[in-house]
Amino acid sequence: MVREIAMIGNCMMCDSFFVNVVGIVDLAENRGAKGKDVLSEQYESVQNKYTDKPELLHCPTCTELVYGIRFQEFVVSDKDCVITLSNFMKFDEEEASPVYINSGEHKPKYTLVYGVGPKMLELDSSKSGRLYKPSFRALKLPGLSTKPFENTKERSALEFKEIIDLVNQAVITARDADEKKSLIEDILVPNKPLFDNWENGIDVTVKDFVRDKCPEFVDYEITRRQILDLPN
Ligand SMILES: [Zn+2]
Repeated sequence: MVREIAMIGNCMMCDSFFVNVVGIVDLAENRGAKGKDVLSEQYESVQNKYTDKPELLHCPTCTELVYGIRFQEFVVSDKDCVITLSNFMKFDEEEASPVYINSGEHKPKYTLVYGVGPKMLELDSSKSGRLYKPSFRALKLPGLSTKPFENTKERSALEFKEIIDLVNQAVITARDADEKKSLIEDILVPNKPLFDNWENGIDVTVKDFVRDKCPEFVDYEITRRQILDLPN
């Protein structure tokens, strides 16, 4: 009985939550007390690997925003995955990110197997792995947004793509671990969702960072804008 092991991704761009598969486990091979210990070890190792370690993950909401289509249309298209800076969700600051397994037969059913978090995850109707945010209201956690992302700034698909490209470039080109940590922890994470806070100086900081660390990316962007005849 092979099952997916999953954790909850939280996108820094749009602040949506989504299921992110981090491994698989064979429950049939791990029965009894000994098997339980083996499973616990496996769950703990994924917790250690991903807790407090932001990664570029495949966010369904950002995918829809960048292409201006529903996720199910994306699935049958030849378009590339959209990856965005994301954290693995924690529901208690002192605890590691919770681990789930998909125990569903015909449709996904994510159940908590390790750590602190909701016992079950409620997905929305998009079949994208996105969680239904209002279901988190019952947790009454301070600072946890329970509203799905809304395009209140009326950005175009191209504008969403440009912001994501810049942030990804900044994250990828951060020269060493300390610099990357500082960029992510001091600038990006406190300003989630970055789409809403982008114009509050984050745009300038990120652009300067990329210009300083990766001038060829800026050159490429300028050339691309000239070809597309976009304002600089
Ligand atoms: Zn997103």
